[in-house]
Amino acid sequence: MKTNLPADPETCPHCYVGRIQQSFITYTAIIEGKLLSVPDFPVWRCNVCHAYVYDPVAMGQLQASLSAHQKAILNEKARRTPRKTAAS
Ligand SMILES: [Zn+2]
Repeated sequence: MKTNLPADPETCPHCYVGRIQQSFITYTAIIEGKLLSVPDFPVWRCNVCHAYVYDPVAMGQLQASLSAHQKAILNEKARRTPRKTAAS
């Protein structure tokens, strides 16, 4: 996974003036039609233009847990859905 962090992680990649510092936001996304909200999600935020990038480590962990969660949902659906081919 590529990140948007510059080589010098303390300089803002948007304005090249500000310095980015770790901050926390509420990350929201739509997952399978449902609103996902993750409070205190770590980001790197510029103190001048207030642009931010998601913390790549935290984002990786979130995506890993989401994909595991989605697999669990799919497995649950597979178990609940009777297989027509098995009825004969
Ligand atoms: Zn900036």
